Amino acid sequence: MSKVKSSNLGYPRIGEKREWKKALEQFWAGNVEKDVFLKQIEEIRLQHLEKQADKGIDLIPVGDFSLYDHVLDTAVMFGLVPRRFEYTEGPISIETYFDIARGTKEAVASTMTKWFNTNYHYIVPELGEREPVLVENRPLHFYKEAKEKLNINGKPVILGPITFVKLSKGYKEDEFKALVEKFIPLYTTILRELQNEGAEWVQIDEPILSTTISKEDVALFNDVYETLHAAAPELKIILQTYFDSVDHYEEIVSLPVQGIGLDFIHDGGENIASLKKHGFPADKVLAAGVIDGRNIWRANLDEHLLTLNEIEEVVSKDRLIVQPSSSLLHVPVTVESEEEIDQVLKGALSFADEKLNEIALLTKGLKEGKESLQEDIKVSIEAIKVLNQSTFRNNKAVQEAIQQLHTYKAERQSTFKDRQIAQEEAFKLPLFPTTTIGSFPQTQEVRKQRLKWRKGELTNEAYENYIQAEIKKWIEIQEEIGLDVLVHGEFERTDMVEYFGEKLDGFQFTKFGWVQSYGSRCVKPPLIYGDVAYQQAMTVQETVYAQSLTEKPVKGMLTGPITILNWSFVRNDISRYDVANQIALALQKEVEALEKNGIRMIQVDEPAIREGLPLKEAKTEEYLKAAVYAFKLATSSVQDSTQIHTHMCYSEFEKIIDAIKALDADVISIETSRSHGELIHAFEENTYNQGIGLGVYDIHSPRVPKLEELTRNINRALQVLDPKLFWINPDCGLKTRGITETVEALKVMVESAEKTRETLLKETVR
Ligand code: GLN
Ligand code: ZN
Repeated sequence: MSKVKSSNLGYPRIGEKREWKKALEQFWAGNVEKDVFLKQIEEIRLQHLEKQADKGIDLIPVGDFSLYDHVLDTAVMFGLVPRRFEYTEGPISIETYFDIARGTKEAVASTMTKWFNTNYHYIVPELGEREPVLVENRPLHFYKEAKEKLNINGKPVILGPITFVKLSKGYKEDEFKALVEKFIPLYTTILRELQNEGAEWVQIDEPILSTTISKEDVALFNDVYETLHAAAPELKIILQTYFDSVDHYEEIVSLPVQGIGLDFIHDGGENIASLKKHGFPADKVLAAGVIDGRNIWRANLDEHLLTLNEIEEVVSKDRLIVQPSSSLLHVPVTVESEEEIDQVLKGALSFADEKLNEIALLTKGLKEGKESLQEDIKVSIEAIKVLNQSTFRNNKAVQEAIQQLHTYKAERQSTFKDRQIAQEEAFKLPLFPTTTIGSFPQTQEVRKQRLKWRKGELTNEAYENYIQAEIKKWIEIQEEIGLDVLVHGEFERTDMVEYFGEKLDGFQFTKFGWVQSYGSRCVKPPLIYGDVAYQQAMTVQETVYAQSLTEKPVKGMLTGPITILNWSFVRNDISRYDVANQIALALQKEVEALEKNGIRMIQVDEPAIREGLPLKEAKTEEYLKAAVYAFKLATSSVQDSTQIHTHMCYSEFEKIIDAIKALDADVISIETSRSHGELIHAFEENTYNQGIGLGVYDIHSPRVPKLEELTRNINRALQVLDPKLFWINPDCGLKTRGITETVEALKVMVESAEKTRETLLKETVR
């Protein structure tokens, strides 16, 4: 009898109906007492463990559950409370924990950033202010809880020391190794205590191993894990990687641990190739991530069993663990809640709970042979086939258009220089044109009206009238402020992806398909499940209406193909890039419709290009090339005199500056206010010779900027950028801001543009 086991790496925290989120927010609002809140949370946590046990998972993760974020949990476990929060020593209260994440009146929150290439954000630990100490053995606590309350012998999940320090800030590169070493005694204590308590397995996450790392880092892994193993020799450590392949395969699988966790889904086929080529150490367990932890499609059990059989040729069954490719944190909880989705699609979906069923089935299939799974295999194949053969996935026109693309260049008719002349002629804009990024405040009232309309309490006509009135109001406000290029304000949109998804073919929206984005904030990514096709104009009505009210140009506003792609769950039966091009082709039609209706400036937002970058440097080129192509496909068919804008909101541009140039947008606006200096520096080294607006003030706070500040920012930018190409704008959309502060800030911005024009004029006269 083989001993193949099933396992999970992490379970979604939020609950089937976002119970977790609601509990947190009620507590933050002061509506429930702390002990009641903690009781609610405990119930959710235990229920999740029970659910996994019921599904027959052998190694159930404990300690992966969090009140906010697992990186913050780790930092707090080591007493790393930034000095600006009140704390001296001893246990850290949940109030302090939340303060670090959310900030207080006196102290700003720690920053957050994206967890690898996901849309999950973690709180960046701040090292350097305090010596790390083990305040509480958190994994031990949750290990004991599961054992005592549910009789579950859980598998504690711990964020490994090397990844933890890599993700932290507050140190210099040459201090890295010494810092990691400081944490080792703390980790050894954690592991020793777990061993003494009877834990058998522990999962140490080191996803940094799936990025491009150096030889020195690999050596460090060896030292660190040698020590950890020696400290708790009875405990079986699974060194867990995910989200991509591991580069130094032979070294990694030889590390002194008892198990290696590899991702066989998002590795581009490299892990399995390495496994076949180099084999696998006979004294280790392979935790094989064969079910996609990042996407929501039902697994073809036949194919997955085949993969496992291939693996089995190298690693015998008694040393195999079947598991998802990563934590299930990144997928919604259960398909069962989705009552309104068409059966054809629903049958082909698999969220966290269904994925665990798949894990259990595959484990059974491996143990008892394929025959034991005959029926389940049939069902899975059939469900996928039905969707693949449905009309949703067989739009001939779209598929032919995609096939034709290999000969399609997607270039503007003329060079930027020539277009510039045509556009100057067409728009006659002043030096340093002022504009905004697209959205204006989405007030309570706007959201209320939309909700009423969605519920059918407001007729289409009444809703449209309401939106028009908002547009009119804001065109007048913008005229009065004196902006040069206006926008309609995006009042009709809840979300920049959802709005387009609802109007295009091929998208499905779920009711409860939430995933955690940061803290209690969840997002509900659309499912791109079919061929994406244009149905009818999506933005023409609002934009044309806005344009009819003013002599000044109004920019049309679209969301770019890569952003729509990266913020959705994407079908996996065709290449992601084909999906991106399908979206791009649909957007191209919208761009043309806008142009035909007299809209001559069109902005295609791509805030998500950067975050979609593959983890491996070797794979970035292909991705960026595809991203640039999709953008150009959407935007390049317009006349010379039509001005294409784009917008991105992040500031590490060095990595992708060449791709940004290659987009060939006439004007790009980018966020900089929070790191102005750095960005300017980037442009000293890389010239940019097309229209560009560096965000001159930060929209992430309600504060109205001072004139001198803005003028200073502008002047600094002008040291590295051509004044003739420079635009003045805030750094992102104003959707989340209040009306008064927005108007005031924009007035200051327009004034600063005027000041800069005057100064420049004086200088040239002199
Ligand atoms: N046009 C969008 C807006 O102004 C851009 C949003 C974004 O960059 N995320 O809201
Ligand atoms: Zn932005």
